[in-house]
Amino acid sequence: MSQHHARLSGRARQKRNEKILAASDVCHICGQPGSDAIDHVIPFARCDALGLDPEAPSNLKPAHHDVAPYCNRRKGDSLPSEIDRQVVLICGPPGAGKTTYAHTLGLEVYDLDDAKWGGSDALFRAALVELREQPRARAAVIRTGATISARQKSATTMGATECVVIDTDLATCVERIKARGRTEPPINVQVRGARDWWAKYEPGPVKLSFSTLRLKRSGSLA
Ligand SMILES: [Zn+2]
Repeated sequence: MSQHHARLSGRARQKRNEKILAASDVCHICGQPGSDAIDHVIPFARCDALGLDPEAPSNLKPAHHDVAPYCNRRKGDSLPSEIDRQVVLICGPPGAGKTTYAHTLGLEVYDLDDAKWGGSDALFRAALVELREQPRARAAVIRTGATISARQKSATTMGATECVVIDTDLATCVERIKARGRTEPPINVQVRGARDWWAKYEPGPVKLSFSTLRLKRSGSLA
């Protein structure tokens, strides 16, 4: 194989990659921020065959490699099996739109408000522990999680791979609680729940097996 393009030393390459990521960490494969690596859009071997410079700035783009959704690994077809797991912890006040969001993910939805749990927190928690033990679990779990410690506890219990906080403003939550007419728990309890959530809310990430914290607002839920 021809090697007519000088390759950078590891240290120089790292510096260059950091510079590119500092300018933008938007992944060229999925279009989302949070890239951790630089991808050669046209791979080395093909560049050599085509007589192109693989290190040309136009060929170097940010991508998710060792962080979800692992776009670069998927592209290279070298996904570790753990990536089959997706357990999304969805937190937010009553009326935030958590259930609506959960059902957009195409995963099994775990919601304590579902009749099948009969309001039993113990049964619900047992189901979450089971999720943690399934390497290929695919689920969306709804909790309130106003404080970092509450979110961390939930995330650890279920082995969450993602945590999404839907921080819809209080006025909108109250409006939705009243408009949707769900009466279990009673509307005034739900409204109080939304107020309490906002009084206690601590923004900030939790430690996960993989991936990141994302913030969603009602405006992005349409
Ligand atoms: Zn990506």
